[in-house]
Amino acid sequence: MAKLPPLPVNSVHYGLVKRFKSLPDAESYYRQHLSKLSQPNAAGWANALCPIHGDRNNSLMVNLRIGCFKCMACGASGSNIAAFHAALTNTDYRTAFNALVSK
Ligand SMILES: [Zn+2]
Repeated sequence: MAKLPPLPVNSVHYGLVKRFKSLPDAESYYRQHLSKLSQPNAAGWANALCPIHGDRNNSLMVNLRIGCFKCMACGASGSNIAAFHAALTNTDYRTAFNALVSK
């Protein structure tokens, strides 16, 4: 893949990238919020009890490196911990993102 040129410091994208990078680390976030988290495999995937629905089996798959998640029972899914936090706290993505970043 061709290497992209660096983003100009005052661009909108630069600000967005900077904000996404200020999200807490996915692994520490998930270790704090999930119970019965299994050992991650080589690609970073681990199973846990899904706190979004009343889970009794380990239905939730989370990637501790990237932060994306998918629940095989209730179908909740997302690409980062802000999406997970929104589903967990029953708020919208923007509110959850800002709550995580301001911590
Ligand atoms: Zn679930």
